[in-house]
Amino acid sequence: MRCLYCNGVMLEEIGWTDLFFKRVEDPFCDVCRAELIRLEGPGCTVCSRGMETEGICSDCNSWAEDPVFQDALISNHSIYAYNPALKELIKRLKYNGDYALAGCFRKELTDLLKPFKKEAILTPVPVSADRLKERGFNQTEALLECAGIKYEHLLLRRNGEAAQAKKLKRDRHRGENPFAAIRALDGEPVVLIDDLYTTGTTIRRAAQVLKESGAGEIRSITIGR
Ligand SMILES: [Zn+2]
Ligand SMILES: [Zn+2]
Repeated sequence: MRCLYCNGVMLEEIGWTDLFFKRVEDPFCDVCRAELIRLEGPGCTVCSRGMETEGICSDCNSWAEDPVFQDALISNHSIYAYNPALKELIKRLKYNGDYALAGCFRKELTDLLKPFKKEAILTPVPVSADRLKERGFNQTEALLECAGIKYEHLLLRRNGEAAQAKKLKRDRHRGENPFAAIRALDGEPVVLIDDLYTTGTTIRRAAQVLKESGAGEIRSITIGR
């Protein structure tokens, strides 16, 4: 058994108990696993940003005052800090097409999505047709598939973003919303899943379109923040 991240052999120093009760679930060796930092301390109750004390961060306060996006997203929960280790991991999954890595957040996603499974529709943030062609798969769908989590991928479609719009993506109103609804909803809560929460613009744009098509409460879960 080799670590999916560093390719180091993991069998040598562990006993049978480890093998059956811990290691089988974890495709990373202890050294690599320790590089991933859980967002567990106090933080923004809306977006998971780490803060000195619990509260609502300045970004989320601005979103709350934004007439277009204020009701779009109830909250975002991110699992890990977007540090160099996570950056590299997501790069390998997303751009190098290392599909095996998609299984590495199985446990985290299963635990986090469990409370929503019955009532909410779980759906990955879609990638555009061009990206899909380029990468061969949607990394978020891959994460969910490897975790054996049932999801719906026919809620949203994503159009390609013009290069100009991409440059200005920090500006939440610049550029058109790249998402479009595929079907109408009837008040069902939705959980959007994505690999990263960066400025929160992408997720809120997706949430806003879902809201307009009739979704109930919308939350999001991302691997990194
Ligand atoms: Zn390793
Ligand atoms: Zn926040």
